[in-house]
Amino acid sequence: MNHDRREFLKATSLLAGASLAGGFTDLHAENLIAPRQKNARMKLRFRPYTLELKHVFTIANSSRSTTPVVLTEIEHDGVIGYGEASMPPYLGESHDTATAFLAKVDLSKYENPFELETILRDIDAIAPGNPAAKASVDIALHDLIGRLMGQPWYNIWGFKKTATPYTSFTIGIDTEDVVRQKTKEAAEFKLLKVKLGRDTDKMIIETIRSVTDKPITTDVNQGWKDKQFALDMAHWLKEKGVVFIEQPMPKEQVDDLAWLTEHSPLPIFGDEGVQRLPDVKKAVGVYSGINIKLMKCAGMREAHKMIVLARSLGLKVMMGCMTETSCAISAAAHLTPMVDYADLDGALLISNDVFDGTKVIDGKVTLTDRPGIGVKKL
Ligand code: MG
Repeated sequence: MNHDRREFLKATSLLAGASLAGGFTDLHAENLIAPRQKNARMKLRFRPYTLELKHVFTIANSSRSTTPVVLTEIEHDGVIGYGEASMPPYLGESHDTATAFLAKVDLSKYENPFELETILRDIDAIAPGNPAAKASVDIALHDLIGRLMGQPWYNIWGFKKTATPYTSFTIGIDTEDVVRQKTKEAAEFKLLKVKLGRDTDKMIIETIRSVTDKPITTDVNQGWKDKQFALDMAHWLKEKGVVFIEQPMPKEQVDDLAWLTEHSPLPIFGDEGVQRLPDVKKAVGVYSGINIKLMKCAGMREAHKMIVLARSLGLKVMMGCMTETSCAISAAAHLTPMVDYADLDGALLISNDVFDGTKVIDGKVTLTDRPGIGVKKL
């Protein structure tokens, strides 16, 4: 039994005693809360941290070996929830922008941490943008709430713990030898995600096919510019056992993307072109599916709404990630019983994780039994 529950029971049994002795009963909810909880206020703490990548990670238009993150904690009545902002440089957030944003967040004015809708709406209104910084508060709040309830989020949301999908494992753009080596190292995974978008696309696919015939998903990161070229590639990739293509062309080429989605033999997913909730409706007719990431959409609460909306609009859904610690990966993992595909290998690509949480076991996203988002600080 956790501390809060003990306090709660102590408070209610004292009240029961008082009513017997004093001959009156006052069981209004506010009187059932232990006095020390009544004045508890949330405290937000945060610190910058830098993730070291195991391999240099190259996609269509950038290359890097580290990722800046900010680790957050929200404490309430002696219970701590953990969160994280991950900020690949090409998305525009940084240690400086995230810490400046978080310095403006005042959680001490809220009496009840369960009021997620109000608290997160207020935080979103502090400044436009900053989705990763906002997500770091959202995740820590969800973790805190789950811990206060003594329940993991898959239970709170009503998902079956084991209904999680396999996750793909990402192979970046690289030389033939390295691609072959990484494909062999990915033996545990049932699904590979391959980065395309340079002039080596066919070589990379052929190299992987010389090692394995497992299904491949592809991510072009806006690397192709011509719709006819993209359609020719889609036909070629289908013959090679590719399952779908993510963000084949620049997000601004909306008409070209819609034409490609209409004609392509493979589903076309939007990633860079779909950030937050209002983008889901705009994705209809442009993409066949969307890639939702907590760092784009400001956290778990909006991600949940996006999945529900996307499904109702007939879009396929993938849950993706940045390079992140097991904190943000675990948060995203609780939503995966609701999605078609998971791409949650972010914590496997770094060498200095600071959390134990969701793991990939035999290629499958595997949730822990712990409350909240299910993490333990290492
Ligand atoms: Mg992508």
